[in-house]
Amino acid sequence: MIPGTFDYHRPATVEDAVGLLSRLGEEANILAGGHSLIPLMKTRLASPEHLVDLSGIGNLKGISVEGGDVIIGAMTTQHELINSDELARHLPIIAETSRLIADPQIRYKGTFGGNVANGDPGNDMPALMMCLGASYSVTGPDGSREIAARDFYQGAYFTSLEHGEILTAVRIPIPSPDHGYAYEKLKRKVGDYATAAAAVVITMEGGKCTSASIGLTNVSETPLWASEAASMLVGTSLDKASVDAAVAAAEAITEPASDMRGPAEYRTKMAGVMMRRALERAQSRAKG
Ligand code: FAD
Repeated sequence: MIPGTFDYHRPATVEDAVGLLSRLGEEANILAGGHSLIPLMKTRLASPEHLVDLSGIGNLKGISVEGGDVIIGAMTTQHELINSDELARHLPIIAETSRLIADPQIRYKGTFGGNVANGDPGNDMPALMMCLGASYSVTGPDGSREIAARDFYQGAYFTSLEHGEILTAVRIPIPSPDHGYAYEKLKRKVGDYATAAAAVVITMEGGKCTSASIGLTNVSETPLWASEAASMLVGTSLDKASVDAAVAAAEAITEPASDMRGPAEYRTKMAGVMMRRALERAQSRAKG
């Protein structure tokens, strides 16, 4: 299938990109790696008249550490996340999650920013960013602002981004070096979106859980932050009864669609199974 016609623009700076988006109006769309947008254009579910390609803006790429935060530029590819020494040291769950996205060809082009800005509930990074307490740096015609990942997702393909705003970077607080983590994803085959997936980050001390955060992928119109389930685990030894209760609380906030990945009831249960597995693996990795 072939997309409709469009004009292509390749600005060299964020300011130029913001100016172009303002001037071209609602018929202009941002192009990053193209691996979500181009398939939509090929099936004519999206028909932008203008594409504003961010790939010529050098300072949107890269991974750095600033104080207690890791900063990831929006145009950093999923492949680059997997190979980053900084992320391996501070946030290994990001590479673990990236490896479960699509296939190597898509990860070479697909960007971190595109994955979090897209608003598709099937994208894996958004629930992880909610779990990690990340915030998104956004620049638009009225200047720059920060949006918490936990406030960003409003509905399927509907986010807090205003037209003309560009996600420039994601800021992620570095968890304690002793933290345990895991991203567990159930998919029908390699390269598939999640039937259900769970991100877990915990800390333990003296056999007790001292902090917990849980994100869920593709079991609602938006990624979910299971805050109540996570707080039920704090102070426990992650014994079976406590985990059962937390899993039930997490399952209760899911509202998956019944689709080719299975009926809603099954996908809710799989969210619980993924959370349970992620908790077990996170506990085995936590020091303390
Ligand atoms: P694009 O496709 O270029 O853009 C996506 C959307 O985000 C567009 O609306 C665009 O305007 C907007 N956008 C992009 N960058 C910005 C920005 N900086 N600021 C504001 N808006 C922006 N993803 C998963 O998470 N898990 C999977 O399992 C998975 N499987 C896939 C399987 C296949 C076969 C394919 C083709 C894709 C799959 N993907 C999956 C999607 C892939 O990860 C995409 O690369 C990603 O969702 C979007 O990143 P992109 O850079 O390609 O963005």
